[in-house]
Amino acid sequence: MKIKLLFILIFISFNLFAQKKIGKDIGIWSIQNGKLLSNQQYDNKLGEHYWTFIRELLPTPLMDQYVKRFRIYTDGKEGDLGGMTLINDSNQDWQLEVDIADLQLEETNQEKIVDYQHTLIHEFGHLLTLNITQIAPTDDEYQDDSKGYLTSEGYARKNSYLDVFVAQFWPDELLFQWDKIDQIRNQRKKENRLFDFYLNAPRSFVTDYAAESPEEDIAESWTYFVMDEIKGGNTIKEQKVAFFYRYPELIQYREEIRKKLRYIPSAYLKSFKIK
Ligand SMILES: [Zn+2]
Repeated sequence: MKIKLLFILIFISFNLFAQKKIGKDIGIWSIQNGKLLSNQQYDNKLGEHYWTFIRELLPTPLMDQYVKRFRIYTDGKEGDLGGMTLINDSNQDWQLEVDIADLQLEETNQEKIVDYQHTLIHEFGHLLTLNITQIAPTDDEYQDDSKGYLTSEGYARKNSYLDVFVAQFWPDELLFQWDKIDQIRNQRKKENRLFDFYLNAPRSFVTDYAAESPEEDIAESWTYFVMDEIKGGNTIKEQKVAFFYRYPELIQYREEIRKKLRYIPSAYLKSFKIK
């Protein structure tokens, strides 16, 4: 039952070119230099309201450089909470989307505020680790080991955040095990095997969702870096959170985001429970 619940609650996606459209459209807007362009098909006031809130929370330089489209949608409460998806194969144009049933700006429940802050920081984590400066687009379908770690967006560039993260935390043996699971085409079976993969090493992953892939692992670890105070520890998951302290620019981003958070939970990593 737990397994089923877990994967019903999976919330985050970065599907290549937004192939799988999630939920029902509420509005889609082009973004130009950080500004939302009116679209007469949709409720512009609502779009502006959400976009302003998100743009104020997340570091502006990266958001303004890469986010070219903003979508609000809903699939009801929970389910998918948001996504950061490529619009084309340039790795330069991204769409941010959020489910407004899960991101209610008038929300007063602290747990729900923490959840949506988590989603937004996580999605920003994808932009941070998968943009063109980090990932080199490729036509390769299968990984050529001499070129590094292959994501759906391309190869992790040498010394990119993901390259260093994978080298440190995903030894070949682990990558090999994960890759075998990732190739399972039966979705349900794959999800069950991924959950077992997490249960095999719960002290290595900040959440069960982090075990989904190295890309999700770094985005989830980044989220705990921003929302928690962990600077090290004996477990691999603590080391993954502390990983980001080696980058001054990320410490800066962390501070900027934290100033704007509505609510910062205490001992966030410790309080994680499988839903
Ligand atoms: Zn994600």
